[in-house]
Amino acid sequence: MKILFLHGWHSVPGGVKPAYLASHGHEVINPQLDDDDFQAAMNTAKAAYDDHKPDVIVGSSRGGAVALNIRSEETPLVLLCPAWKKWGRASELKRNSIILHSRSDDVVPFMNSQELIDTNNLPAESLFEIGSDHRLADDHSLSVMLWACELLTTGEPLPWLDGFSDSETDFRNLCNSDVQHEAVYVCDACGEDIVIPLDLSQGAFQTYVEDCPVCCRANTIYVHLDEDGTFQIRAEPEQDYD
Ligand SMILES: [Zn+2]
Repeated sequence: MKILFLHGWHSVPGGVKPAYLASHGHEVINPQLDDDDFQAAMNTAKAAYDDHKPDVIVGSSRGGAVALNIRSEETPLVLLCPAWKKWGRASELKRNSIILHSRSDDVVPFMNSQELIDTNNLPAESLFEIGSDHRLADDHSLSVMLWACELLTTGEPLPWLDGFSDSETDFRNLCNSDVQHEAVYVCDACGEDIVIPLDLSQGAFQTYVEDCPVCCRANTIYVHLDEDGTFQIRAEPEQDYD
């Protein structure tokens, strides 16, 4: 997959997020955008878009505003806490877009992304509340960013856009179904298979810490809902993230 990554204000190409995407085998075009002149940043981004014809555009913070303000036909967008109210004039968001934003973001308010979804009449599922700050550079946020790129470039309609008004019902049905209400992870410390219940009402992406019932060591459990509707679980030893 070819990804055009538009970095944030005073970020430099080669940061954690584009490096993460590249490390998963994707071609990442990561142009240096002018920090002072928004029009110049847009011109650079548009030229990179025209030259490389990416499969998806990822825009982080100010880069998210750049992504919204350049013409990019039907190319899907992954926006990371986009600073669209601060830079540029565009407030139109295409339907094949996914936004990731932390409610604890103290640089760009989470409400701005909420507003972007609402004014474009997009379903709530287009906005993922994730991470614990503006950077979204933690492992979980990085993996969701990658997942979003992969989902948007499958060519399949997004599950929540397929009969948009029914999507809430579909998710409720999934929650009520008997399918996969529990899952198994392997404890990293003792290697035991641990069966845990899944609370689907907690959303498609969940991260929490629980003590292994066998060896009592704390594991961070990552749960995420795949495109085909199955839950993937993995456990890591608990660590402190700064
Ligand atoms: Zn254990």
